[in-house]
Amino acid sequence: MAVELQHPVPAASWETRAWWEGCGRGELVLQRCGACGKVQHKPRAVCATCLSSEIEHFVASGRGQVYTFTVTHQNQAPGFREACPYVLAYVELEEGPRLLTNVIGCDPGEVSVGMPVVVDFAPVDDEREAFAVPRFRPA
Ligand SMILES: [Zn+2]
Repeated sequence: MAVELQHPVPAASWETRAWWEGCGRGELVLQRCGACGKVQHKPRAVCATCLSSEIEHFVASGRGQVYTFTVTHQNQAPGFREACPYVLAYVELEEGPRLLTNVIGCDPGEVSVGMPVVVDFAPVDDEREAFAVPRFRPA
């Protein structure tokens, strides 16, 4: 059984707080522009496409596919070195945005571009905030 990555506590800003709190509830909270309809991530105060401030939040499906990935064999950072080898990937969500994340729940050699995945959340150890870090498993 692989050792799990030990993620540091996310540093939430006023723009990213809804994202991290959503993850803590087991939800991927994305933003949609009320003016042009574009779905965006990372969270911003304005639409990165048309600069409108008509930003609404919604809960994404949690489904996507591996856009690209690498297998990390060396990382000396505590919390990461113990989990090597692990998969670092961009997952393209059904709603469009791509997340830099991890693929877990399978052997790194089984991961492939285009592989369907579903979100999963790793709680982080912090008594002040109920955050979690999203990662993905084979669907
Ligand atoms: Zn827009």
